[in-house]
Amino acid sequence: MSGSDMSASPAASRTRLYGSWGNILRAEHETLAPRSVDGAREIAARLPAHSAIARGNGRSYGDVALNPGRTLVDMLGLDHFIAFDATTGRLRCEAGILLSDILAVLSRPDRDGSGWLLPVMPGTRFITVGGAIANDVHGKNAHGLGSFGCHVVDLELARSDGRRLVCSPEENPDLFAATIGGLGLTGLILTATLQLRRVPGLALEAEDIAFDRLEDFFTLDAESAQAWEYTAAWIDCLAGGEALGRGIYMRARHAPGVGAPPPARAPSRSVPLTPPLSGVNGLSVRAFNALYWRKLGSKRRKSHVGSYEKVFFPLDAIGHWNRLYGPAGFYQFQAVVPPEHAEPVTRELLAEISSARQGSMLVVLKRFGDIVSPGLISFPMPGITLALDFPNLGDATRKLLARLERIVVAAGGRIYPAKDFSMSRESFAKGYPALQDFLRHRDPAMSSAFARRMGIVEEEDAS
Ligand SMILES: Cc1cc2nc3c(=O)[nH]c(=O)nc-3n(C[C@H](O)[C@H](O)[C@H](O)COP(=O)(O)OP(=O)(O)OC[C@H]3O[C@@H](n4cnc5c(N)ncnc54)[C@H](O)[C@@H]3O)c2cc1C
Repeated sequence: MSGSDMSASPAASRTRLYGSWGNILRAEHETLAPRSVDGAREIAARLPAHSAIARGNGRSYGDVALNPGRTLVDMLGLDHFIAFDATTGRLRCEAGILLSDILAVLSRPDRDGSGWLLPVMPGTRFITVGGAIANDVHGKNAHGLGSFGCHVVDLELARSDGRRLVCSPEENPDLFAATIGGLGLTGLILTATLQLRRVPGLALEAEDIAFDRLEDFFTLDAESAQAWEYTAAWIDCLAGGEALGRGIYMRARHAPGVGAPPPARAPSRSVPLTPPLSGVNGLSVRAFNALYWRKLGSKRRKSHVGSYEKVFFPLDAIGHWNRLYGPAGFYQFQAVVPPEHAEPVTRELLAEISSARQGSMLVVLKRFGDIVSPGLISFPMPGITLALDFPNLGDATRKLLARLERIVVAAGGRIYPAKDFSMSRESFAKGYPALQDFLRHRDPAMSSAFARRMGIVEEEDAS
């Protein structure tokens, strides 16, 4: 689409550089930035076939929100609250609003410490509602409350045939199911109604427990499932042998009657520039892991009551921390494997990572529960999910990622598109058995780097 095509539209097109959060790819994109839902609908109605994809706040590690040489529709201008019903906790807002803005306005403690909270929060609050829906994101309470999409009451979608459709489990239910976790490929999400939840206290009682080997994770996790709402473990991915899978188990729950202020809308510190070399390498990872593993001291357990910010969003404290990986960037890997294979397959994945001597400080292991995500191609499914970063060492890293992918898919698991930059088409099709059904709902105008890489849109179509 040329700039002049859009000159009469509510948002003129311009060219801008956009990257993935992992900085593997940065590319020029023609961008359109609507300022209103009507403007976004008009833009959608004018998009040629296979031309565009929505972009939220760019916090996806891979290429789901990239479209080099084509168009990005930057949704951040759709950032208005529309309505909030304080009796039911239903919030209607535009899709470009950030979770951090919702928390800042709505998650203020009442006199008794109770308050309204977003039901599902991923590891960063700097993402949009549209991005949270399109990736059907999960948080540390996935075992109890499922994914973000489980709490979407309805949404409005702009399609390239000019229609503006309300989608919910009752109205256009097939398109609703395709849009939750649909990677932006069903059209532009304009607005959404979210069901917030009332919590007895906005502060959290949190406990960290060191454990020595992988099987201890499973014991702690089974013990914690009922009484602790938020759970996840940090794993020392370089530990091998007897210590394979050692880590720190983190669990938290709301402290009734204790309030907590909403977290800041922006990080107070930031990495200003990308350093010429990665600060994350074998030496720094080994040193960090050894120190972190001992952080709880000889008692090997620590509890505290405090704000939810540090429990939910530890990485948000430093803006642009992704730059620390240097100009080559990094890959993130997140996979889920079914419960029946969880322990042996996690062991196999960790052994592979440990013997390759790759991997990072940020390694998270967590259990998804049995709540079925509403999306046709949502990532969460019952099982154990492992997430970690790999500094980009070129071929060696890609080969390791391919080995991990094979292990996951052979066990009936799947890779998370929001974090992916290397999955094969075969693994995507195997991991997401409803893919063919999903494709019937794709908007013909939509296309992304991920969609082309996965063969959802063939390269020759994207002219
Ligand atoms: C530090 C960090 C921690 C994270 N932790 C977690 C975690 O715990 N759990 C988890 O699930 N994820 C996690 N993520 C990933 C992140 O939550 C998701 O990638 C999220 O979807 C990004 O939202 P965004 O607004 O930045 O969207 P983008 O990354 O810009 O886009 C994501 C997808 O949404 C689509 N999209 C965006 N807006 C719209 C719209 N209005 N209409 C239609 N489609 C749209 C895009 O096309 C794209 O397919 C983490 C990311 C970071 C950086």
